[in-house]
Amino acid sequence: MIAIILNIFFLIMYAGYLKNYYTNYAYDSIFFIILINAVYILKLRRDKKILMDNINEEFIRASKANNNSIIDPLTGIYNRRHFDAVLDKIYSENNAGGAFSIMIIDIDHFKRFNDTYGHDVGDEVLKTVVNTVRKNIRHNLDMFFRFGGEEFIIITSDDKDGSIKLAEKLNKLEYKAVERVTISIGVAVYQKGISKTELIKIADNNLYRAKENGRNQVIY
Ligand code: GH3
Ligand code: MG
Ligand code: MG
Repeated sequence: MIAIILNIFFLIMYAGYLKNYYTNYAYDSIFFIILINAVYILKLRRDKKILMDNINEEFIRASKANNNSIIDPLTGIYNRRHFDAVLDKIYSENNAGGAFSIMIIDIDHFKRFNDTYGHDVGDEVLKTVVNTVRKNIRHNLDMFFRFGGEEFIIITSDDKDGSIKLAEKLNKLEYKAVERVTISIGVAVYQKGISKTELIKIADNNLYRAKENGRNQVIY
């Protein structure tokens, strides 16, 4: 936000120079615009860059070579096996301790859809939720997996605030397939020293608390 305001300020200064209002500030303005953006890009890289960059290509190559699918056939997103592999990779290479979180998304009362409308409609509900979530995640920061049944998991290479914001946003989206569908989300923010198993356990416990508290909510 500050970067945008400063950019606009110096652009106005530069525009002023072009119109001959402030003749002395032309080079200063351009210098500051470059400086602000360079600092901002470096900050973004430090904050957000984790290991997503080459992860996908590498895994897609490996899975083709081994004939191992990394895609869930019903929903078209990554499967549980791929989640395990990506998390392993993040843990083994994230020496700098970059920020990331996981969130488990569970459809509320999903069994009721199966029982009321049949298994095929249940499948449609799963696809609707997946497609809606998929449109609302950031492809450079978030990876989306089917964890099993009506549970999904997102790995996000964002900091704590960004992860919670994303979870809250996903929770508030409108999911509609025959009826309104709601979801509960348990978030776990990575901290140094937390193992993979502990991280998943934290997200799972938070999801459990979200269900206990009445569903359709985010707990972190
Ligand atoms: P809660 O709000 O506590 O999460 O309740 P729930 O009904 O969503 O959870 P529960 O674990 O009781 O039921 C999950 C159901 O999901 C049971 C299982 O038959 C169904 N299920 C799992 N995989 C699939 C699938 O691929 N397709 C369909 N249609 N149903 C599935
Ligand atoms: Mg469940
Ligand atoms: Mg459920």
